Amino acid sequence: MRLILLGAPGSGKGTQAAALANHFGVPHISSGELLRRQVAAGTELGREVARSLERGELVPDRLVVAIVDEALAHADRSYILEGFPRTLSQARGAEARHGPRFADAVVFLEVPDNVARQRLAGRTSDGRADDRDPEVIDRRLRRFNADMEPLIDYYRDHGLLVTVDAPPPPQEVTRAILAALAATTQP
Ligand code: AMP
Repeated sequence: MRLILLGAPGSGKGTQAAALANHFGVPHISSGELLRRQVAAGTELGREVARSLERGELVPDRLVVAIVDEALAHADRSYILEGFPRTLSQARGAEARHGPRFADAVVFLEVPDNVARQRLAGRTSDGRADDRDPEVIDRRLRRFNADMEPLIDYYRDHGLLVTVDAPPPPQEVTRAILAALAATTQP
């Protein structure tokens, strides 16, 4: 089972990825979490990453790809991958390196911008500075929407896309994802 979870900041993709990883008993790989871990570790890579995170910009591909590929190498062929790919070029690069079975299905958590904005503004408990500044929030959402459209089209064209309405409570969304997957993917 190789599942990719796409969703705007504030769509609940981290929560859903954790729930799905738990359900299927496979590793949960979050590019955002891996990047924040580098920042916390204070490595040189982490300092470079921090500059992008603080501005609400995407981290350069060469840094993200190196970090995500290392995590995938340890995942033993099954994973819930969340936050990556974020762009069409990341998706194409990952397929070139890992083959077409990089993703069995791609779940897109669809959420209106105003809901994402509200959720992000209320997210203060986990100490993520990139989530609190309204300007940074707006930049991240704009960036996300611009990058996501071609990526969504790409996975739809490949017959891998499963779109799920994300505003309902988390447990309901998890149930909707599992039902949609059961209806569309081979066991
Ligand atoms: P997330 O936890 O997925 O919301 O990601 C937090 C931040 O990490 C994003 O705003 C980006 O700056 C960075 N990031 C996460 N995943 C990627 C990616 N695949 N490519 C580039 N930057 C990323």
